[in-house]
Amino acid sequence: MRPHDVLIIGGGNAGLCAAISALRKGASVLIVEKGDKFNRGGNTRHTRNMRCAHDTATETLSGPYTDDEFWQDLRTVTGGNTNEQLARSMITASKEMLTWIAEQGVRFQPSLGGTLSLGRTNSFFLGGGRAMLNALYKTAEQLGADVVYEAEVLDLRIEAGQFRSAIVRYAGRDYSVNAKTLVAASGGFESNIDWLTDSWGPAAANFLIRGTPNNTGTILRCLMNNGIQTVGDAKQCHAVAIDARAPRFDGGIITRLDCVVFGIVVNKHGRRFYDEGEDFWPKRYAIWGRLVAEQPDQIAYIVFDSRSINLFMPSLYPAYQADTVEALAEKIGLSPDALRHTIDAFNAAVRPGRFDATQLDDCRTEGLEPGKSHWARRIDQGPYYAYPVRPGITFTYLATRVNAESRVFMAGGVPSQNIFAAGEIMAGNILGAGYAAGIGMTIGSVFGRIAGGRAAENARA
Ligand SMILES: Cc1cc2nc3c(=O)[nH]c(=O)nc-3n(C[C@H](O)[C@H](O)[C@H](O)COP(=O)(O)OP(=O)(O)OC[C@H]3O[C@@H](n4cnc5c(N)ncnc54)[C@H](O)[C@@H]3O)c2cc1C
Repeated sequence: MRPHDVLIIGGGNAGLCAAISALRKGASVLIVEKGDKFNRGGNTRHTRNMRCAHDTATETLSGPYTDDEFWQDLRTVTGGNTNEQLARSMITASKEMLTWIAEQGVRFQPSLGGTLSLGRTNSFFLGGGRAMLNALYKTAEQLGADVVYEAEVLDLRIEAGQFRSAIVRYAGRDYSVNAKTLVAASGGFESNIDWLTDSWGPAAANFLIRGTPNNTGTILRCLMNNGIQTVGDAKQCHAVAIDARAPRFDGGIITRLDCVVFGIVVNKHGRRFYDEGEDFWPKRYAIWGRLVAEQPDQIAYIVFDSRSINLFMPSLYPAYQADTVEALAEKIGLSPDALRHTIDAFNAAVRPGRFDATQLDDCRTEGLEPGKSHWARRIDQGPYYAYPVRPGITFTYLATRVNAESRVFMAGGVPSQNIFAAGEIMAGNILGAGYAAGIGMTIGSVFGRIAGGRAAENARA
């Protein structure tokens, strides 16, 4: 194959935005994608929306979301653990992204509601992430991109901070592929259980991975072995509570459980361990994966009664149901006495209030440890329900350190001449901890577009 100006590793949102951006600058582009054509675009396939700043309501967004509000949200969810300069420039660039991505063929629709209430801040892809990807692939191919599926980059040859070539395994043979510049857009290492085990210990054996099995961090590791600088902590990640019956990989959005705020959550000993009503669910859903990861055997159970069964979007799997608390406990393998004791103590601590799922209401417990700050109602109206949950890892935050041009930093802090990174592989520059729904796609789109553009300029200089 002829040498290309830009080699892009990974054909998800970040890789495609990079490809289109480079192609529009006249560069030749090769995308090497590990998945087959149906599964192309790893985690992007599962997405539904993207968070972008905008000054006014649009056809699909219910109101403005200013740069400043976006920044405040990001600062809050990360606890300040973000690169402010990069984050602010990403937020500013996100404004153009709504138009830019639409110009590449992606269509939006209004939010259909749902548990995270994102109709003002997040733009929803018409047809979801897969339709979004299809549009991006179509545009990239029309612009002349070469795409190779079922091809895995195994290693990189980097000399004196310069990318030279990649070793690509395709149809059982290894090829050396040269290109003038490299954009690494190959996701995090969330599907590499051994790497997760290095940070989490044996607990990682009980983690479920919400997305593609392909994001094993091979390229992140190659870059690290070649002395690039990293940012972030290997234990930090986006992790939510998902149905414990979900498959090991690729269960996607329909296995997420959003009913924590309406009930109590107990561990395998039938004990509560955290305030289920601490804040609105969109601000708290991403802490529950980590909380469950810290429980014995990494399993927990959301328990609620008949009053709450219709208040949330159900998951793919039906809830366990029984007429009594004790019968429910037996069905899910908990001690009936322990669950009864926990629910009795909880019910006794619930103070009268006016339940309102749309506000931080005054339904709370008193004198209970841990307490429940909002939406606390007695659990006493059968039938009773339970969902088993495990940590569902979405993506990891240990990342290549990049500058505002999406160039990775080599050892000694020098920005690389021709190596760029975009998407999950560099998300940790923005997300040191925490998460705001829809920001994964913002990071991939904004930095993908920048990386592709700069890579093209570099290659054609
Ligand atoms: C269930 C789920 C729902 C989500 N919903 C949302 C949402 O609504 N909004 C949002 O903002 N974020 C969401 N996210 C997060 C979002 O998916 C990611 O942040 C985003 O898609 C990352 O894009 P990316 O291009 O970096 O990675 P990916 O889309 O995962 O693409 C990486 C690609 O690299 C390929 N690859 C990996 N290693 C190699 C290799 N060595 N050689 C060749 N190819 C390789 C993979 O096959 C993959 O196609 C969700 C994630 C999941 C799992």
